[in-house]
Amino acid sequence: MVVGAGVSGLAAAHHLSRAGLSVTVLEAAPGAGGRMATEKVDGFRLDRTAPLLLSSYPELRRTPALAPLVLRPFSPAVLLHADGRLHPGPAAPAAFAGVRGTRGALTAVRALASVPRLPRAQGAVRAPRPGPLGTAADQSRLAAAWARLAATPPERLLARPELPAAQALADRGFPARAVDGLLRPLLTALLGDPALLTSSRSADLALRFFATGRLSLPEGGADTVPDLLAAALPPGTVRTGVRVLSLSTTSVTTAEHGELSCRAVLLATGARTAAELLPGLRVPGFHPVTVLHHTTDERPPLTGPALVLDADRSGPVSHTAVVSQVDPTRAPAGRALISSTVLGTPPAPAHLDATVRAQLARLYGTSTARWELLAVHHDSEAVPAMPAPHDPRRPVRLLAGLYVCGDHRDTSSVQGALHSARRAAHAVLKDLDACPAPLEEHFEAAA
Ligand SMILES: Cc1cc2nc3c(=O)[nH]c(=O)nc-3n(C[C@H](O)[C@H](O)[C@H](O)COP(=O)(O)OP(=O)(O)OC[C@H]3O[C@@H](n4cnc5c(N)ncnc54)[C@H](O)[C@@H]3O)c2cc1C
Repeated sequence: MVVGAGVSGLAAAHHLSRAGLSVTVLEAAPGAGGRMATEKVDGFRLDRTAPLLLSSYPELRRTPALAPLVLRPFSPAVLLHADGRLHPGPAAPAAFAGVRGTRGALTAVRALASVPRLPRAQGAVRAPRPGPLGTAADQSRLAAAWARLAATPPERLLARPELPAAQALADRGFPARAVDGLLRPLLTALLGDPALLTSSRSADLALRFFATGRLSLPEGGADTVPDLLAAALPPGTVRTGVRVLSLSTTSVTTAEHGELSCRAVLLATGARTAAELLPGLRVPGFHPVTVLHHTTDERPPLTGPALVLDADRSGPVSHTAVVSQVDPTRAPAGRALISSTVLGTPPAPAHLDATVRAQLARLYGTSTARWELLAVHHDSEAVPAMPAPHDPRRPVRLLAGLYVCGDHRDTSSVQGALHSARRAAHAVLKDLDACPAPLEEHFEAAA
């Protein structure tokens, strides 16, 4: 029995059912998907999470049900808003794939730096000093540091001394200008952590995923990921509207149907509910995230699928994109969909939209006065915090017959949720002596 039909519970059920076990997934909400939900309104697909996925996440390609997943890539160069204007940044992924050595990496950085045509910010003054990537010499050092990071195996990153990410960044060989101008805003967006108190090991892993993959959105919306996982399960496996109140190794008690017996229980709820159902589990801190979706029928404020990072920290928005340029299925014809993410405590609801609009006007260099606000989604427990020391492989087997998975057992991301599911399914199969060779092959070390 799996409790919770977020991506981790669904992925665990997928592995178990592929191994021949009969599985039931109980989900308290009316639908599956957990935090990876997408609202459909007037032809728009509005994510509650607006998740940034990296094509290098191993679990996206190692989970058979996700084979049909289409990732819509952002342009290789992120756009950095620094010193009041937009600059192209070296968004390593595609550029560094297959690149060998510093010379190749430098060529890639320079090529990327010349790619997008940028809108001019209204009233912007030409920057009197080098952009956020610094001088040519800084860019060489940046390229070399990226190449080194991309070539470092994850096990070596996880063995490094552990500090808060903000402190460790200075020791990674990146030039100081690029730390402030690129790495801080990039990591803030990837980790959902504006203070960068996240463990440097998790931060290094996130940067490595970025350096070896491509920043992307799932085509059709965040809910495509849980939908594909659910569709791969035998019909009737997921039972929604069933809240689990308590559990043991051989049964769960539900609010709607009383006690249900089983051979093993895998708890796949978020961290807080997991600790309520199993009081020995720790409750982590959380990073709040607010996502705002705007639309306009005017010309899209950017003509490409770039992610815009605010290196100036000129307002509450950490990153924003014209999502309909990344994934046209998310907006009806003739409309642009702009999705923006606010990290930490947002401004009071009465001021939120006005404050965000003013910042977006600066970032995109255009008036946002006529933009329409479609939705605001706030989650005060969006992303479990991973301060140092952080164990990215928390035990998933509590007792024979009782298991737990979810992003709070691994790294706080879709990759972490899926990987914890793989580890938990493996533990269940081992205990039940039911681990067939073909599935076992998928359990080699994953980042
Ligand atoms: C705003 C936001 C932005 C994010 N951005 C990113 C990003 O950019 N990149 C990234 O990789 N990740 C991002 N994440 C994190 C990512 O969404 C999560 O890591 C992932 O979805 C966690 O999946 P899960 O299955 O572990 O948990 P959940 O999705 O929380 O699933 C748990 C499920 O358990 C159910 N449940 C709870 N209690 C009970 C009960 N008593 N009985 C039965 N069922 C129960 C819940 O209803 C839920 O469906 C973001 C999250 C949010 C909210």
